[in-house]
Amino acid sequence: MTLRIPFDNTYAALPGQFHSKLPPQAVKAPRLVAFNEDLARTLGITPGDSAEMAEMFGGNRVPDGADPLAQLYSGHQFGTYNPQLGDGRAILLGETVGTDGKRRDIQLKGSGRTPYSRGGDGRAWLGPVLREYVVSEAMHALGIPTTRALAAAETGETVWREGGLPGAVLTRVAASHLRVGTFQVFAARGDKASLRQLTDYAVARHYPGAEGPMGLLSAVRDAQAELIAAWMAVGFIHGVMNTDNFSISGETIDYGPCAFMDVYHPHTVFSSIDRGRRYAYANQPSIAVWNLAQLATALIQQLDDPQDGVAQATEIVHAMPDRTEAAWLARFRAKLGITSAREGDLELVTALLQLMAENQCDFTNTFRALAEGTARDQFTGPAAFDAWAEGWQARLEGEPDPQAVMRRANPAFIPRNHRIEDMIAGAVAGDYTLFHRLNDVLARPYDDQPEHADLQRAPLPEEVVQATFCGT
Ligand code: AMP
Ligand code: MG
Repeated sequence: MTLRIPFDNTYAALPGQFHSKLPPQAVKAPRLVAFNEDLARTLGITPGDSAEMAEMFGGNRVPDGADPLAQLYSGHQFGTYNPQLGDGRAILLGETVGTDGKRRDIQLKGSGRTPYSRGGDGRAWLGPVLREYVVSEAMHALGIPTTRALAAAETGETVWREGGLPGAVLTRVAASHLRVGTFQVFAARGDKASLRQLTDYAVARHYPGAEGPMGLLSAVRDAQAELIAAWMAVGFIHGVMNTDNFSISGETIDYGPCAFMDVYHPHTVFSSIDRGRRYAYANQPSIAVWNLAQLATALIQQLDDPQDGVAQATEIVHAMPDRTEAAWLARFRAKLGITSAREGDLELVTALLQLMAENQCDFTNTFRALAEGTARDQFTGPAAFDAWAEGWQARLEGEPDPQAVMRRANPAFIPRNHRIEDMIAGAVAGDYTLFHRLNDVLARPYDDQPEHADLQRAPLPEEVVQATFCGT
C-alpha cells in the first residue's frame, strides 16, 4: 500500500516573506520507530509500508501534495527579544483537513538545516523526540489542547550534543504553528501589510467569529487562560514559555525541558537553563499574561496609528488574570469533587495546596487518593489533613457524585519524568518496550490500571530527575 496524505495547503499560499520553501534534508538510514494509527485515521491518512513511511517521516522523500517550507518567526527568549528565529530544524510539509473537519499542520521536526538555523545543526536527537511523542500524546489523552505526534523515525545518523547521540525526526501535528513570535517579527519590521494579512489568516483559521486584531487578541487570551489552568490542574510545567513557544491556537506546543511535577511545590522548575526560575510552575499564569502583552504590542502595530489601540489592548490583557483564575478554580473545584461555586472555595483549595507543599505530597497521587479516601496516607502529618478534610466533607454535602467528578479530574497516570528518562535510555539501547507501554497506559490516564501500578508510583529519592536539559 502507498502512503497517502490528503494535503490541502494554505500557509504555503501566503507570500514569500512568511516562509522559505525548501525540502527536508535526507538522512542516512531512516527507520520508522513509531506511527500513530489513531491519529492517522483522524487525519485521513492512508498508511504505507514501513520502508516507505520511514522515507517520508525521516525526510528522505517528500509526499505527494506537500509544499515543504520553514516558517519565519521571532520571539522573546527568557525575556530577551531575538529578532530572528524561525524553523531552524523543522519543515512544514503542509496541512490536512481531518475526518473531524479540523485543519491541521503536518511538520517534520529535526529535519535538517534551514535558512533560520543560525549556528544549529537542524537536527534532534532521539531522547527529546520520544519525550515529545509520549508527553504530547499523554496530554491529549488528559483532554488538554496540544500538538500531537504522528510518527517518529530514527535517522541512522549521529547528532552531537554533550556527546554523540542517535538522531531522530518527529512528525508533529498542530492546529497550526502560528505563535506570538510569528506576529512579532513583522511588528518589529514595521510591516503593517504583512501583520494585517497574518491577522486575517489567523482569524479565519482559528477564530472565525473574531473581529480584527482586538478580536484575535481576546480569543487568544481566552484560549490560553483555559490552557494554563489545565496545565496547573495536572501539575504540568512547560519549561520554556518563550513567546515563540506560545501558540495562537491555544495548544500546548514545544515540549522541550517540560515535566509533570512529582512532589508538589509551587516553585518547581525543571529546565536546566532556567536559572532565574522564570518558568516555574506557579509563574505560568503571569508569564502567559506577559506573553499576551507581547502579542498585543505586536498586533497594534498594524493600526494606522498604533496609539489608537493601546487602551483597548491594555484592557484585554489586564482581564487575563481573572479569566485564568476562574478557569483554574473551576478545575480545582472538580479535583475536590465540587461542581457548584461557593464563597470560600478558593480558600479551601489553596489550604490543601499549602498543606501538600508542607507535607511534600505527590501532586498526582494525592489528588487521585481523595476519591479513594486514602489521601491522608500521602501526608507526613496526617492530622493536618484531617482538619482540612472536615471542612471539605462539609462542603461536599449536596454534591451529587463527588467520587465520579474527582476520578474524571484527577488522573491516575501522568508521564512521570523518571519513567520518561528510563524510556529514553531503553530506546537508545534499542529497546522500545517502555515507550510502547507508556503510550498504551497513558492513553487511558483516568482509568485504574492496577497491573501498571509501577507507572503510578512516585519516584524514590534516587529516581528523582532534577533537571531536564534543553540540548534538544
Ligand atoms: P526551541 O527552543 O525548540 O523553541 O527553539 C528555539 C529556536 O532555536 C527555534 O528557532 C529553533 O528552530 C532553533 N533551534 C533549536 N534547536 C536547533 C537546532 N538543533 N538546529 C537549528 N536550530 C535550532
Ligand atoms: Mg520553539
